[in-house]
Amino acid sequence: TDRQLSQQRAIVTGASSGIGAQIARVFARAGATVGVNYRGAAAAADATLREVRDGGGQAMALPADVSKEEDARRMFDDFAGRFGGVDILVANAGLQKDAAAAEMTLEAWRTVIDINLTGQFLCAREAVRRFLAQAPPPQGRARGKIICMSSVHEVIPWAGHINYAASKGGVMLMMKSLAQEVADKKIRVNGIAPGAIRTPINEAVWSDPAAMAALLRLIPYGRIGEPDDVARAALWLASDDSDYVTGTTLFVDGGMTLYPAFRDNG
Ligand code: NAD
Repeated sequence: TDRQLSQQRAIVTGASSGIGAQIARVFARAGATVGVNYRGAAAAADATLREVRDGGGQAMALPADVSKEEDARRMFDDFAGRFGGVDILVANAGLQKDAAAAEMTLEAWRTVIDINLTGQFLCAREAVRRFLAQAPPPQGRARGKIICMSSVHEVIPWAGHINYAASKGGVMLMMKSLAQEVADKKIRVNGIAPGAIRTPINEAVWSDPAAMAALLRLIPYGRIGEPDDVARAALWLASDDSDYVTGTTLFVDGGMTLYPAFRDNG
C-alpha cells in the first residue's frame, strides 16, 4: 500500500474504541504518527496503541476529556511537544444519552452537547492555533486538516435523541463556518456523516436480530457499516488526494439519507 500520510502527525480523539480506533490503525498503516486520545482508564487505549505499534507505526497515548478546556490544551501540548507539531485532527469522540424529550434531564442534554459539540470546538481551536504557528506548506498540501465526526443525524431528525441530533447539527455548521474562516490560511475542515456503523455505541441494535432487520430497512445498500468504511473515508479526507476539498460533509451511510421509505411508495 502507498503511504499517503507519511511524515504526517495526527491526533484522533475517542480512539480507544469503534470508529476512532480504526482510524488510528488505518492512519498509522498509511505512515502517520498517531496520538490516541481516550477518556478514563489507560488500559482502554492499550489495544489501539499495541496494534498501531505492531504495524510499525509511532503512537502516543493522550488521556484527556475533550469537553474540558485544560485537557484539550494539554493534549495538544503533549503531542506537539513530543513530535514537533500536528498536521491532522480527527475530532471523533462522542456519545449518546438517549431519552424522550419530556424525560430528558438537563445533565443528559449538557453532557452530549459538551462532549459532541463543545469538545470538537475545543480540539479544533487548539489544532488551528498550532497549524497557524507552523511553517507554510508546499504546493498541493494543506497547512493542516480537521475532520469532524458528525452523523447522518446532522440532517435526519431523531426522536428520542434530541440532544444528539442537536449536537451533530451544530457540528455541521461549526465545521462549515470554520472551513470558510480558515481556508485562506490553507487549513481544510471537513466532516464525515456515518450512517449505522457496527460499534459499541449501538450494540443494542446489531446484537438483536429484530432490531437489526428494522435497521436494514433504513439502509438501501443492505448492510450495516463497519468502522473501516469510515476510516477509509477519513484517510482520503486527511490525505493530499482531497487537497481541493473543504467545508463538505462526506456521507458514509449506505444510502441512509436517500429517504428509503419512498422505495415502497411508488
Ligand atoms: P464508541 O462508543 O465505540 O467510541 C466513542 C469514543 O469516544 C470512545 O473511545 C470514548 O472513550 C470516547 N469518548 C467519549 N467521551 C469522551 C470524552 N469526553 N473525551 C474523550 N473521549 C471520549 O462509538 P463510535 O461509534 O466509534 O463513535 C465515534 C463517533 O462516531 C461519535 O462521534 C459518534 O457520534 C459518531 N457516529 C457513530 C455512528 C455509529 O453508528 N457507530 C454513526 C454516526 C456517528
